[in-house]
Amino acid sequence: MSASGLTRVEIDQHGGAHCGWCDTPIAKGTSRVARAFFHQPGHYSRNNGATTGYNQGGPQDLYMHSQCTFQYDANPKGQPAGCTGCGKMVEPPHRVLSRFGKPGARCTPATSGPLYYCFSCTHDFVQTHRELLTGYLAAEQSEMPVAWRSAGPFASSSEGGPPALPKDKTLRAQYLGCFHFEPPQSEEDAATARSRHDELQNVISEALKRDRLLRKRPADTSVDHAAIGEAPRKKRQAQAPEKKGGQKVDLVE
Ligand SMILES: [Zn+2]
Ligand SMILES: [Zn+2]
Repeated sequence: MSASGLTRVEIDQHGGAHCGWCDTPIAKGTSRVARAFFHQPGHYSRNNGATTGYNQGGPQDLYMHSQCTFQYDANPKGQPAGCTGCGKMVEPPHRVLSRFGKPGARCTPATSGPLYYCFSCTHDFVQTHRELLTGYLAAEQSEMPVAWRSAGPFASSSEGGPPALPKDKTLRAQYLGCFHFEPPQSEEDAATARSRHDELQNVISEALKRDRLLRKRPADTSVDHAAIGEAPRKKRQAQAPEKKGGQKVDLVE
């Protein structure tokens, strides 16, 4: 894989970093994928766990939940693009993408272009990092509902449901094959991947609900925090990306 794309998988040592796609926390001790990119100077980045200050910009790592890193490219109008791994031209329905979320709008594709990967390079990445992805990624997990839909740029990103996978059985099997380890992970590890997937989607779903509530009642300071399941301090944090804009600085690649 290219040094400018997804570079490695690691265990988060500190906690507090926010995922580049869903903008919910990456828990300490869980696996995350690092993507090298150029960060514009400006507001601090929630992605690396900062809550205040200035980001000097430059080449940096951006982190994502392992489960948020790869999405099937279901956009039928997608243009051919070079695979970030091998350089081969790839287009839907035969490719996977990895993309950032929009600043202040979790699980909504950023305006910066995604990274594209052919199935073979996706599988290579998963296989190379299998030790840290075991218990996080599994073929069955890739078919499970997500709190947001991955159905191309025209779909609503705020509704949950099954991911937009290929209808064609052969193609679907090829895509899911990206997440089969060799040798296969144990049934116990695959079950852990499924339950971690559910847990994460619950967290994202709750965050999306809070986003909608806060958007509806932005000026209402008497909002019932118990009703949205958060302490007031947290509510301010949740609002911050919208107010300040660009905390997750838009990305230049
Ligand atoms: Zn995430
Ligand atoms: Zn490739």
